[in-house]
Amino acid sequence: MIFKGKANLLVRITKRGHVRPLPKYFKFDYNGHYETDDPRLIKRLKAKFAVANKYKCKKCEYETFDRTDLMRHYKIHREIKE
Ligand SMILES: [Zn+2]
Repeated sequence: MIFKGKANLLVRITKRGHVRPLPKYFKFDYNGHYETDDPRLIKRLKAKFAVANKYKCKKCEYETFDRTDLMRHYKIHREIKE
């Protein structure tokens, strides 16, 4: 699952557990996204951060987090058609 925070935001993780402890920190990337598959982290992050919506092109494999990007992308498909 991908979460949306602030670009390069460093987040400290408290109560990391004793068996397979969670990492001390994690960082959102320069786009403000952080991806994790750990159900323990997902549960916590859901309470604090928004889930990032991924937009998928209906005509190819293209994916983006930005709706404007997707619109721009669809334009390429239209231009190819003409
Ligand atoms: Zn496409």
